[in-house]
Amino acid sequence: MTNLELIAYAEQNAQSGTLLTHDQIVQLLSIAPESAEWSALGAAARRVAHTLTGDRAYLWGAIGVDFAPCSMNCDFCSLGEKWGIVRETRSYDARETVAQVREYAEAGVRWIVLRTTEFYSQDALGDMIRTIRTEVPGDYEIGLNIGEFDLAKANWLAACGVDFIYHSLRLGEGKDTRFDPKVRLSTLQAVKDSPLKLVFLVEPVGIEHTNEEIADLILLTAQYGAIVSGSMARIPVAGTPLGVHPQVSDARMAQIIAVTRLACGSCVPDICIHPGTRLAMEFGANVTVIETGSVPRDTCCCSGGKWNQFDAARAKELFAQAGYTVHQTA
Ligand code: SF4
Repeated sequence: MTNLELIAYAEQNAQSGTLLTHDQIVQLLSIAPESAEWSALGAAARRVAHTLTGDRAYLWGAIGVDFAPCSMNCDFCSLGEKWGIVRETRSYDARETVAQVREYAEAGVRWIVLRTTEFYSQDALGDMIRTIRTEVPGDYEIGLNIGEFDLAKANWLAACGVDFIYHSLRLGEGKDTRFDPKVRLSTLQAVKDSPLKLVFLVEPVGIEHTNEEIADLILLTAQYGAIVSGSMARIPVAGTPLGVHPQVSDARMAQIIAVTRLACGSCVPDICIHPGTRLAMEFGANVTVIETGSVPRDTCCCSGGKWNQFDAARAKELFAQAGYTVHQTA
């Protein structure tokens, strides 16, 4: 099939409940950014987003609970202890976390996620979730982005009131990170086997990743039953080993979003872009991220503010420009 024939096929296939093949995904990822075929790809993905979501968009609000050097030393992360970027330690207490959750809930965020470094106490987070649920009523969903765990812990987190988990097998896992990919996959399996929902983005995308690696992960997000897929760019943090490579272009990120939208179709109706751009939304993303607190893409703790000054108002403005309306519930 030519690229245009494949785009037309993918658009038709998007409601069939079947995924595109690895070869088809690689072919779509190989289209030159900013070409006429790239525009056709984005337009097809946006039409599929309209059909699958009714142009409903959602916000993802992350709260980095602990700002602390982390001994896992991932090659892209500012918190890696070995890079010597983060020396101070700062933890959000329950009062600050509850206040931030309330702010997100009032701003219409659907998915609120507490993120920690690898070794933060999971038991303490269980207590924190119970406190949040008691003190901040609302229709939002609450989740965690934490370290590795087994099925028993996954079931316990669900019983504490956790709705979803953000977890991923990252690009370059085991090479750019010190994690055994099998352990990351076993945590994904524990989430799949529990009542918890999974959110899994293809990340952190850099110029160093091949189309084949990106295609592997797009398929994996759907195979593990993610309710939200999508893509996050690697932000080059000076002083980290991968910080020497530039960030991928917005046009390339929009292409990865469009391909993910077409590849996953109705299997994963919500597709997230981080950092949020109007272009990626016009290429089919209907979810984007607001961050506060400790951010592994930055060298300081955004205490009180939002990372990159990207807040709920800005995200809603971009979604409106791309033809979506932001809602808090499905
Ligand atoms: S990405 Fe997570 S595990 Fe890796 S160094 Fe950063 S905080 Fe630690």
